[in-house]
Amino acid sequence: MNLEKAGGRLCTGKRTSLPVARPFPVIQKVMASMAHLQEEKLRLQEELLGLQEKLAARENNELSRSLQLQGQVETLKAKLLEQAQEISRLRSELQGGTDVEKHRDLLAAENERLRQEMKACEGELRELRQQQQAPCRDCVHLQENAGLQERLSQLQREAEETRAKLAELDLEVQQKTNRLAEVELRLKDSLAERAEEEERLSRRLRDSQETIASLKSQPQQIKYIIKTVEVESAKAKQALCESQSRNQYLQEQVGMQRQVLKEMEQQLQSSQKTAAQLRAQIMMYEAELERAHGQMLEEMQAMEEEKNHAIEEAFSRAQVEMKAVHENLAGVRTNLLTLQPALRTLTHDYNSLKRQVRDFPLLLQETLRSARAEIGQAIEEVHSTNRELLRKYRRELQLRKKCHNELVRLKGNIRVFGRVRPITKEDGEGPEATNAVTFDADDDAVLHLLHKGKQVSFELDKVFPPQASQEEVFQEVQALVTSCIDGYNVCIFAYGQTGAGKTYTMEGTAANPGINQRALQLLFSEVRSKAADWDYAISVSAAEIYNEALRDLLGKEPQEKLEIKLCPDGSGQLYVPGLTEFRVQSVEDINKVFEFGYVNRATECTNLNEHSSRSHALLIITVRGLDRSTGLRTTGKLNLVDLAGSERVGRSGAEGSRLREAQHINKSLSALGDVIYALRSRQGHVPFRNSKLTYLLQDSLSGDSKTLMMVQVSPAEKNTSETLCSLKFAERVRSVELGPVSRKAELVSWPSQEHLEGDSPGTAASPGRGHTSSSPGQLSGRSASIRRKLQTSGKLRPVPV
Ligand code: ADP
Ligand code: MG
Repeated sequence: MNLEKAGGRLCTGKRTSLPVARPFPVIQKVMASMAHLQEEKLRLQEELLGLQEKLAARENNELSRSLQLQGQVETLKAKLLEQAQEISRLRSELQGGTDVEKHRDLLAAENERLRQEMKACEGELRELRQQQQAPCRDCVHLQENAGLQERLSQLQREAEETRAKLAELDLEVQQKTNRLAEVELRLKDSLAERAEEEERLSRRLRDSQETIASLKSQPQQIKYIIKTVEVESAKAKQALCESQSRNQYLQEQVGMQRQVLKEMEQQLQSSQKTAAQLRAQIMMYEAELERAHGQMLEEMQAMEEEKNHAIEEAFSRAQVEMKAVHENLAGVRTNLLTLQPALRTLTHDYNSLKRQVRDFPLLLQETLRSARAEIGQAIEEVHSTNRELLRKYRRELQLRKKCHNELVRLKGNIRVFGRVRPITKEDGEGPEATNAVTFDADDDAVLHLLHKGKQVSFELDKVFPPQASQEEVFQEVQALVTSCIDGYNVCIFAYGQTGAGKTYTMEGTAANPGINQRALQLLFSEVRSKAADWDYAISVSAAEIYNEALRDLLGKEPQEKLEIKLCPDGSGQLYVPGLTEFRVQSVEDINKVFEFGYVNRATECTNLNEHSSRSHALLIITVRGLDRSTGLRTTGKLNLVDLAGSERVGRSGAEGSRLREAQHINKSLSALGDVIYALRSRQGHVPFRNSKLTYLLQDSLSGDSKTLMMVQVSPAEKNTSETLCSLKFAERVRSVELGPVSRKAELVSWPSQEHLEGDSPGTAASPGRGHTSSSPGQLSGRSASIRRKLQTSGKLRPVPV
């Protein structure tokens, strides 16, 4: 039974040896799947490579297209350059043209426009290139593509990891397979050993059984044998037991090996499961990869289409632009063709002009030479003409001076003007302040005075009515003033009773200056206008004669009495030692001088108004000139004299100083009359020394000097008596010069102020101007009798007391 059992066990033991070979197919399967996976991966990689190649090919294609476009652009550029060169050549040829210049400008503008278009084309090309280099920088497909790429790489990473795990498992399976093979080998050996042992044991058993059977046939012996057999069988039994226990051990070993195999089978199963899972995962990944790949392909397709579309668009646009450029070019070419004839003529003109320009310097030099010679000749002629003219001019100048002197001699160098001031507030109101002076509308030299109910008419050289302005008065005077520049001595006297307007005429007001300031201003402007040929110096002195004492108004000590002396050089000229002379150059200087004189005069008296009416104020302007070309020197003096009031104070019974003043005034005014009379009547002796005034003005009253007596009158009724006196004085001064007879009247003397009035009824009796031009003979006779009367009375000059 045991053997059977053992045999049965052995049989089963043989059967169990079959599953030992089972793990190999599993590993093979795993290996096969892995190989498949590997193949799949390789295929995918190949596909990827193919796609990349395609992409590269497409990129190359695009690059070649862009290169082609670039080539086109380059050829266009070259054409443009050619055109520009052509244009610049044309421009250089056409330089100087007028119509062609316009065409040239047009071409230049066209060229500029084409260049701009070219630039735009280039810009587009650049954009296209950038698109190719970095397609759809911000587009969604790109982002998706990038995501997919990332996913792909992630999947690849995962596949790599799985592959690594698979390799690990492979290694493990290999180790386990090796161990299994070892175990199987060991199992095989032990099985073979057991089979041998069993064989040996069964053989011994069979031998023993045969022995027993033979022994049984030999009873004694058999018994013994049995016993021996028994003894021997005990040994056999022991051996059997041993072999059984060994068998037991081996079976345990087999059981254990089976257990190990089972475990290994389980492990294999689990690894197969893992491999299946991995395969499923790989399948999934592959599907995903496939999908992503498809998506990527689609996107790439779309992008490709988009790119193609953009390229086509750009290309068509470029073509259109190219067409336009071509058309423009054609236009430019036709323009150029039309320009060519003009260009030819222009070139011809240009060449001829060039020839002319080449010849021009020679021509110019020749012309310049001849012109220089002509100009030199002309200058020489002009010089000689100028010299001749200068000579003639000097002769004419001398002639003119002679003529002028003659004219002055004929007309008389004493002129008498009358000026009537307006009625002022000071004249008061009522009948006394009424106007007693009227004028002749047709003759500005005549005025009529209503005196004691009778109208007396006077004719002077000119009469200024009350409305005459300072300027109008000066206009009549300015010829005299300017003659001072030519070297003449001039005296302008303002004569008249106090309040008649002497100071107003001579000095005027600040706003409306009189003769003094205007004369200086005129002298300045005249001197300026002659500055090219003449050097002039204008200087000013101011003096006052009061009670026959001469005082310097610009001096440091105005109270000092000055003397008039003869020049020690024997020239017979007079001079006043110590009289201050200021050089003046501007109106400001004049104003300063006047102010200084005024202050000096005012500080020396208690009542300036009264004082000034009792004294003569003199402004002496000296103009010294030098003709730079001839060296001729001239000196002219302009004496502007504001005389003391001519009113007769003696009648009112003045005494003391007032009487002395009146006497002095009377004396000096009479002396002035005498001198003027003597001068006009060409007397051999002119009594200059009879008063300080005439003595001082001797130079300016004698010779070819000019004198103007401005007789100031008040038009007021209350002043008619004094007005009459003044006008008579004026008329007599004037009458002296009128007739040639006056030259003969050698003995005639000037009437005193008093006698001027005494004569009036007689003259007033005969109306009109006829009476005023009383015959010089009558006048001289009357004056002579007065003079005789004065001389007999033993007085040097009559005093109206
Ligand atoms: P005189 O110097 O003869 O004593 P003024 O020159 O002082 O007299 O004149 C006396 C007044 O008459 C002054 O107030 C002056 O302004 C005024 N006067 C004199 N002449 C004129 C004139 N032509 N126009 C206006 N006012 C005048
Ligand atoms: Mg005065």
